[in-house]
Parts: sequence; C-alpha cells; structure tokens
Amino acid sequence: RVKENGKDDYMLHTGDMDPIALNKLTLQHDLRKALQNDEFLLYYQPQYDLASGQIVGMEALVRWKHPEKGLIPPGDFIPAAEESGIIVPLGDWVIEEACRQNKAWQDEGIPRIPVSVNLSIRQFSQRNLKGKVADILRSTGLDSRYLELEITESMTMDVDRASQCLKELTELGLNFSIDDFGTGYSSFHYLKNLPIARLKIDRSFVRDIQQDPNDAAIVSAIIAMAHNLQLQVIAEGVETEHQVQFLRSHRCDEMQGYYGSPPLGGEEIGKLLREKLNRPAIAVQPEARN
Ligand code: C2E
Ligand code: MG
Ligand code: MG
Ligand code: MG
Repeated sequence: RVKENGKDDYMLHTGDMDPIALNKLTLQHDLRKALQNDEFLLYYQPQYDLASGQIVGMEALVRWKHPEKGLIPPGDFIPAAEESGIIVPLGDWVIEEACRQNKAWQDEGIPRIPVSVNLSIRQFSQRNLKGKVADILRSTGLDSRYLELEITESMTMDVDRASQCLKELTELGLNFSIDDFGTGYSSFHYLKNLPIARLKIDRSFVRDIQQDPNDAAIVSAIIAMAHNLQLQVIAEGVETEHQVQFLRSHRCDEMQGYYGSPPLGGEEIGKLLREKLNRPAIAVQPEARN
C-alpha cells in the first residue's frame, strides 16, 4: 500500500509507481518544458486607495497557459515548482516580466504605479537575489521605486537572516510587504526590526468582517498596529461594499479584491490604466498627476 500523503510517500511495490508521485514528476517535467516554451503569463490585480478610489498599485499573479488544459491558476503548480526548484527560474521570469510590462506602461504615459511581485522562500534564500534584481531593473529600465516584493511571515522566521536580506534589497530602493499577514508565524520582533513598507491583511480575516465580530476586531487591530508602526496597510480579498465601508471607517489605506477588480490580463489592465489617464479623479489636480 502506498501512503496517500503527498510529501513522505514512498513506494512499497516495485514496478508500478504511486500515481501521486508520478503526477508530481510529470508536473515538474511539464513545468520545465513550459518555461522553455514561454507558456507562463502574468495577470495583474489593481490595488485601490480607499480614500480616493484611485488605482495606486497592482499585484502580478502568474498563470500557466497550458496548451491542452488552458489557463492554470498558481495554486495548482506553485507548490510543485517550489518543491522542484523550478520556482527560481520561474520567479526570475515573473520579476523580469512584471518590470518590463510596468516600464512599457510608463513609457506610454500611463500614471506611474508600483507593481508587486510574490517571492517564494527559495528565491528569498538565494545569495545573489540582490544582484539579479539589480540586473533586471537595469535591463528593463524600471525605477526601483515601482517594484515591490511580497514575502510571507514564514520567510522571516530567521529574523537575522531575513533582516540582512531585506536590508540588502531595500538598498536598491524597492519596497517590501508582508503578504497574507496574520496567517503565519507572527512576531512583533520582526515587525519592529525588518525594513517593511506595508502589511497585507489576509483575506481569510476580511471575508467574514460583517458576520464575525472576532474577524472585525482582528482587522481593526492589524490596521491600528500597522499605523502605529508607520506601516501602510492593505486589505486583501475585498468583495463587498460593507467591507469597503468597514475598512474606510477604520482608516485602512488600500484594498485589493473582486470589489475593485479581479486579476486581469495585461491587455485588459492596460486598458483600465489608460482610462485612468484619460479620466483622472476630479479631486486630483492635473499637475499633480504623474
Ligand atoms: P496572494 O499573493 O495572496 O494573491 C492573492 C490571491 O487572491 C490571488 O489568487 C487572487 O486572484 C485572489 N483574490 C484576489 N481578490 C480576491 C477576492 O476578492 N476574493 C477571493 N476569493 N480571492 C481573491 P491567485 O492569482 O490564484 O494566486 C494565489 C497565490 O499564488 C498567491 O496568493 C500567491 O501566494 C501565489 N502566487 C501567484 N503568483 C505567484 C508568483 O509569481 N510567484 C510566487 N512565488 N507565488 C505566486
Ligand atoms: Mg501576494
Ligand atoms: Mg496574499
Ligand atoms: Mg492570500
């Protein structure tokens, strides 16, 4: 019998292979091929300033355009990519593509906004990450202030190591945010010591704000704490008007979620950003636009 559990499974039978392990191998092989064949693409989800309603940033989210299976979401292949190490070249590609696209929009005259990119632990542990990012910024010509990297709490477990890594990279002029904040190992120690620009409140806390007073309390506490630490705070997974009102009344800075827009392909988001250029919010003075 073969254990069904993904990680520590091993074969007791000779000859026939555990279908789960086989799938994993096939997937890892396919991922390598996909990278060579340029089958990945980025979607972008806008981030809105809650006070002005303006788009002030966007998150790059990878998709796999599989020749037979169609568009595959990251949850279905990022774990295998991480396990096999393919996440490193894939992640490099994501950073480069996000920077290239953002620079192309800027060159078109679209108002400049930062793009944020998710970093995996493997990428974060690379010794030459700073050099790689510096090379990408140089070759794409994107100003470093328009790139943000997202890390998760688990990557900061070793505070000294994370601190070193973050300091090196922030020397380039880019910002870091903590993704899925509240779901991992949270320590006030790292919040105090790491050069982080903002917290992203995980959507699991945002989802039930209306029905669950505990979630409402957690969200308002995270916002207050972030502000006391001089950090920006953005809520993830915002889907309803009620959630927007709640976040506004608690002075949350920004929001990201289906209420504003789902992640969109490059062409569609380009259109959205161009509209922003042509129809600025009336509250914004023309010369203040950029
Ligand atoms: P994440 O970084 O927390 O990204 C937010 C996810 O929430 C996205 O899922 C987005 O589509 C989804 N989302 C946004 N708004 C809403 C909403 O209002 N309601 C609900 N229910 N969901 C919403 P997606 O694109 O499937 O990405 C899932 C995760 O995959 C990401 O979570 C991130 O951890 C990872 N990921 C995506 N792209 C990359 C990448 O380039 N590199 C790495 N290492 N991980 C990535
Ligand atoms: Mg993210
Ligand atoms: Mg998140
Ligand atoms: Mg999340």
